[in-house]
Amino acid sequence: MTPRIDLHTHSTASDGTLGPAELVRAAAEAGLDVVAITDHDTTAGWAPALRALPPGLRLVRGAELSCRWYGEQPPMSLHLLAYLFDPDHPELVAELARMRAARLTRGERTVELLRADGVDVRWPEILATAGGGTVGRPHIAQALIRAGLVATTSAAFGPEWLGERYRLPKEDIDVFQAVRLVRAAGGVPVFAHPRASRRGPVVPDTLIAELAAVGLAGLEADHEDHSPAERAHVRGLAADLDLLVTGSSDFHGTHKTVRLGAFTTAPEAYERLVAASSGVTEVASA
Ligand code: AMP
Ligand code: ZN
Ligand code: FE
Ligand code: FE
Repeated sequence: MTPRIDLHTHSTASDGTLGPAELVRAAAEAGLDVVAITDHDTTAGWAPALRALPPGLRLVRGAELSCRWYGEQPPMSLHLLAYLFDPDHPELVAELARMRAARLTRGERTVELLRADGVDVRWPEILATAGGGTVGRPHIAQALIRAGLVATTSAAFGPEWLGERYRLPKEDIDVFQAVRLVRAAGGVPVFAHPRASRRGPVVPDTLIAELAAVGLAGLEADHEDHSPAERAHVRGLAADLDLLVTGSSDFHGTHKTVRLGAFTTAPEAYERLVAASSGVTEVASA
């Protein structure tokens, strides 16, 4: 049987709702053979996920980096998945910490903006719900739900809320620097949901070609935010640029409706990814 490989999930180390240990258990229960933990801007979930790894499941340690492309005004935000990098690489460690700090600043400012408009949400309470994990807009979304202003997380990401009106930029890492840094740390960089036009403007293919030239290894094609046409386009681009193609759920627990293993990566692409890494190894539990 073809192994089931899901290379993009979030735990409570960022904006998911399952703890890292619960996440790997849920991945085994969902029938996955390989799961990657890719929390936003942190490796804090790696150790607890590893300790709880159920038999038969392989763990890929990774992260999803908040990046920015300065080729357009205003600069565009994009996400880079980074796999199997050295978590102690000093420059990468410093950048991750800086991005988490930028998230705190942006979160607090967002709450100030909401409060100035009479919306009753409180920053200390939101911070508490993040439980020490990387704070993100989904945590603010939950506060809007608790305040009875929206019914669902996706409604909280509508244009009148966190999607536009109360959407503030944060100081992310330049995407070219991020690709180089992930490679320098022995990791494998893959562009997350590069065509997710539902989330906002998408970057041009020319940028993806430039990133491929400096070390980008792959593109995430199969993702719930891509339409069938967008998935096909990403596959075509990957073939042109000789990049590997991944598919993944981008599971966030109850912060999203998607299930673990909803989209998966082909074993050949996965093998290529592992072969390209030299930071840390994938881990198979006994
Ligand atoms: P942030 O990294 O704080 O800017 O928040 C981005 C995160 O918000 C993504 O990783 C998703 O978890 C979540 N998100 C973004 N857009 C939506 C949406 N339309 N519906 C639900 N969650 C979303
Ligand atoms: Zn997220
Ligand atoms: Fe993302
Ligand atoms: Fe994600």
